[in-house]
Amino acid sequence: MTIISDSRLPQIPGFPTSEVIQQALSMRDRTPPAPVQVGRIHSIETCGTVDGPGIRFVIFTQGCPLRCLYCHNPDCQTINDDATVTTVDEIMARIKQTKNYLRNGGVTISGGEPLMQPGFVAEIFERCHQIDLHTALDTSGYIAPELAEPVLKNTDLVLLDIKSYHPDLFRKVTSVSIEPTLKFARYLAKIGKPTWVRFVLVPGLTDIEENVVSLAKFVSSLGNVEKVEILPFHKMGEYKWQQMGLPYVLGDTQPPTPEQLDHVIQIFRDYRLTTV
Ligand code: SF4
Repeated sequence: MTIISDSRLPQIPGFPTSEVIQQALSMRDRTPPAPVQVGRIHSIETCGTVDGPGIRFVIFTQGCPLRCLYCHNPDCQTINDDATVTTVDEIMARIKQTKNYLRNGGVTISGGEPLMQPGFVAEIFERCHQIDLHTALDTSGYIAPELAEPVLKNTDLVLLDIKSYHPDLFRKVTSVSIEPTLKFARYLAKIGKPTWVRFVLVPGLTDIEENVVSLAKFVSSLGNVEKVEILPFHKMGEYKWQQMGLPYVLGDTQPPTPEQLDHVIQIFRDYRLTTV
């Protein structure tokens, strides 16, 4: 796997250069992370309904190694002093307050990229399993699988975001290489981890026929993917880019039409995949 040097990443102020990212991508240090009691989060949603099955307690962690052009939470990307520092005990106390509502749902950790803080996420998921709550991890898979093992041990469902399949397009969308994500997807298949794949459909960017067909073919080859969620592009996060003084290059792009959405859904169905 290629280790991506910072010089190839976008020059956005505060771009992560921390040891956490270097460790996450390093093939030299595969030591699984130890449990960590303290983490940095962006926000919490107590009754989420779009990040996994049922009603869910959703924790959005701070920090992400990707720089997606359509990111609706650019303020989640950098680990900085604005992030809320919290403990596993504090998170679990809040989860227990809403536990009665989560019986048919559970707890999802999203981001940012949760696997930038694997020890913290692993500890929360272990504690959730101790009180019989379903756990879902929303990730781009941009991490060496060995470092995600402690998290996956107590993860019931992975929501794997695959931003595109064509390598050049993936880099254009995310600013990073697709290889770690594909490797992570294959690892999930190898261990038989239940997975939902998520793909954001952006007209004029990710909707290229060859890109979608190749992605559908790849996903259908995995064998562990229960569902594919086609997420229509939206611009709800555009104001955050403006507030942060960052260029939002998709300002003129419109959400997909129902026909465009149906067309892409049909491509995945042609590969015998369940879509929503
Ligand atoms: S992976 Fe998610 S949080 Fe990270 S840049 Fe992409 S959309 Fe934003």
